[in-house]
Amino acid sequence: MRKIVIAIDGPAGAGKSTVSKQVAKRLGLTYLDTGAMYRALALKAMRAGLTAEDGEAAAVLGDRTTISFGQGDPQAVYLDGEEVTSQIRLPEVGDFASALSVHSPVRRLLVKRQKEMVAAGGVVLEGRDVTTVVAPDADVRVFLTATLDERARRRCAELQARGTPASYEEVRAQIAERDHRDMTRDDSPLVLAPGVPELVTDGMSVDQVVSAIAAMAPTR
Ligand code: C5P
Repeated sequence: MRKIVIAIDGPAGAGKSTVSKQVAKRLGLTYLDTGAMYRALALKAMRAGLTAEDGEAAAVLGDRTTISFGQGDPQAVYLDGEEVTSQIRLPEVGDFASALSVHSPVRRLLVKRQKEMVAAGGVVLEGRDVTTVVAPDADVRVFLTATLDERARRRCAELQARGTPASYEEVRAQIAERDHRDMTRDDSPLVLAPGVPELVTDGMSVDQVVSAIAAMAPTR
């Protein structure tokens, strides 16, 4: 019997990572952070001196690149065997990843790898195209979101906890810019696809969100 697949889509700062990890843990599934793959490739492209407009060159580079995941929380991420877990979380890498991810050759390459990782099932995957492109046939699909203000508040708290505080206005503007870019790109834009339930998490605790999603999983 094929193992279940849960796809969690939605905009920046909606809490996809926190929630997906906990859903995976609760249901004994593997967690797949698709954004980390865009970030890892972005880091490699930056190091190679490419610009974020060089989608074609980044895809060529990506073809010769291994991106893999380890254990732990935060989950370890490896770029050609080198651990880059914290480096890929730097804001400049996130911005580069966001700009790079608009290019079709880059998306084709990473989506192909993600589909391979999902094929065996037993996965909770998160990202801005997972319900529409990577795993449209997932057993559970959810579009996780929250208002822009709520997402900016959460991201600020997260940055503060990490010891890298930023101003609320700055964070809010960055999230708004990323939303705009993710929603207006030609290739697989961030959308609430027909038939996918939207979960607006303002006022909900992480635990409540995790329980709501876990309850959607088929019991077999
Ligand atoms: O989710 P995270 O912020 O780590 O993703 C980094 C960037 O990669 C996002 O801003 C988004 O533009 C891009 N991305 C994407 N498709 C995904 C995951 C991430 O385009 N499935």
